[in-house]
Amino acid sequence: MKDLLGIGKHSDYINRYFDESNLKSGIYVSSVVILLELVMIASVVTRQFLPETKRSAEWFFVHIGCYAILLCSALVLFIYSVFHLKKLSANRKCWEVLKYIFSIVSIVFGIYISFMDYKKGEQFITLMTMTIFVFCFVVWRPVYSILLLGTTYGLFFFICNHFLPATYATKVNLSIVFLSILMSAINAYHQKFKEASKDEKLEHTQEILLKLAISDEVTGIANMPYFRSQALELINNKTTEIDKLIFLFLDVENFKILNEKYGFWEGNLFLKNFADMIEKVFKDSIVAHFSNDNFVILTKNEAVQEKLLTIRRNLLSMDYDIKLGLKVGAYRPENRECLPLIACDRARYACYTIKKHYNHDYCEYDNAMAAQFQKKQYIINNIDNAIESGDIKIYYQPVVNAANGRLCGLEALARWDDSQYGFLSPVDFIQTLEEYHQIYKLDMYVVEKVCRNFVYAKENNLTLIPVSINFSRLDFDSINLAEDVENCLQKYGIDKKLIHIEVTESTLSENDDRLKELLKKFRTNGYALWLDDFGAGYSGLNVLKEYDFDMMKIDMKFLTGFSGNAKARRILKNIITMAKELGMSTLTEGVETEEAYQFLKENGCEQIQGYLFGRPMPDNEFYEKLKAGIYMLDELNS
Ligand code: C2E
Ligand code: MG
Ligand code: MG
Repeated sequence: MKDLLGIGKHSDYINRYFDESNLKSGIYVSSVVILLELVMIASVVTRQFLPETKRSAEWFFVHIGCYAILLCSALVLFIYSVFHLKKLSANRKCWEVLKYIFSIVSIVFGIYISFMDYKKGEQFITLMTMTIFVFCFVVWRPVYSILLLGTTYGLFFFICNHFLPATYATKVNLSIVFLSILMSAINAYHQKFKEASKDEKLEHTQEILLKLAISDEVTGIANMPYFRSQALELINNKTTEIDKLIFLFLDVENFKILNEKYGFWEGNLFLKNFADMIEKVFKDSIVAHFSNDNFVILTKNEAVQEKLLTIRRNLLSMDYDIKLGLKVGAYRPENRECLPLIACDRARYACYTIKKHYNHDYCEYDNAMAAQFQKKQYIINNIDNAIESGDIKIYYQPVVNAANGRLCGLEALARWDDSQYGFLSPVDFIQTLEEYHQIYKLDMYVVEKVCRNFVYAKENNLTLIPVSINFSRLDFDSINLAEDVENCLQKYGIDKKLIHIEVTESTLSENDDRLKELLKKFRTNGYALWLDDFGAGYSGLNVLKEYDFDMMKIDMKFLTGFSGNAKARRILKNIITMAKELGMSTLTEGVETEEAYQFLKENGCEQIQGYLFGRPMPDNEFYEKLKAGIYMLDELNS
């Protein structure tokens, strides 16, 4: 019923919709009325000048007065409607008042003129015309239509009946006209209301879709595609001073710990608050969520350090018992050709270069970095090709049994022999491949190549020397590593005892249950698991509690300054003892001197790897040497 009478509260959108429609109708109706009244005034004035049609002065002034009032109200309505159609929100109240004034003037005019005509035995057409103008062109809520139209016709009936009783037929006709106009008015309202509601829903859906398309799901601020389009627009804008712009790449330090400690929900909440905070500090800038704990900003290069300091202070004052820091990389675009995608990548690169530098928290991209960056891009773009074309070489470094100095194993190390950059060592490309999650390609290639080398050794009746292969922590996330290695070994018919799985200590963390499971799978499948670079990282002794390894590879850093350093000896001795107590064998890397070798041997280190016993060499060179009988083989291999 409420809906039928149109009593319910309209949303702002629907109100605006009605207003817009009514303003347009207002223009049409008032134009017609203006025209009509001008014609009427002209006709009355002309009549007055002709003796045969001349009326009394009173008649003349009453009529001219009526027309003039109606003309004026129509003129005001017309001007207001035209003026405000473009700025709807201007003054809704004013429009409402004008609408009522115009309607009441029109209706009173209709009643008055129609009554005069009716009195003379003519029609009540003027009243009908005026009510059609007011109720069918301008949309009213049904309740107002009923009230206003009811009063209009009630008044007309009363006047007619009182002064000149109407016939039964007139009353019926008048009622039918009244009802028809009322029905049309109500119908027009419902029609408009339906249209408005539909449009409102569509607009709302469109708003949501638009928001989804441009905003990031976690933080609610702009997403990267939107950032790129906005940044491009700004850069291409002729009025933008390009040399005053700067791209910033923000990386929140220790967010990972926050996430692990407080959970994803809290982590996401932090990101949202952090995003809002950056937007506030860097107002009038383009801010977006890049990924995880990374954000990008395109801003004017003014007071940037002060703003970053504010963010750092805010981070520190946040209610977490984790010290959250902020690393920032920056890139200044050189010209309008600059693409936001590349600019962000460069700022990210600059940020990345200071990631592990505790005393740096801001870095700008420069020429030296540009060269490094290009090299990185080259590595990523060419890794597949390098593997396919055989530019990735496998080098073997001998591992010896400490007790007798005889060869008991090999470590497979990758090298990249590139036509553009020359000979690349792992430090040049491993980190880049890890950063872009491409390292698994290299590692699986090494597995395959090592297997093929075993096939070659078998075919040439050479002793099969076990090979340890380095795996990145990220391999476990990128592929089904245990299965893929197993499949490869099966394909070439290689015994799993010949392969050792090396994982670097620094990449292990205490709470990584998934990695624990995946490593365990290797051991249960029958592979030996080796802990690489023990002591080089900072994961600490705790990882030894959490993971099971067969071999501990002691990092070569313990051997630096070995000869004159009693402490280094004591530490090494204790590490070896501790490893033994934990059920692990030990291998020390980077042994370059006889003195170090003797010390390790005396203190129970089982295996040795280092330049003293051989540098890494191409796999074919190793096999040539093996064939030539250069190596004394340990009996473990037979
Ligand atoms: P790592 O696994 O600890 O390998 C030992 C590194 O020490 C090798 O460096 C080796 O050349 C070097 N080295 C061995 N003996 C001595 C010595 O007596 N003195 C000195 N100063 N250095 C010695 P390389 O080949 O440059 O490899 C560096 C690191 O790159 C490796 O450390 C390993 O973590 C990684 N890596 C190498 N190849 C691969 C690979 O195929 N996959 C993965 N994921 N990582 C690899
Ligand atoms: Mg290794
Ligand atoms: Mg190592």
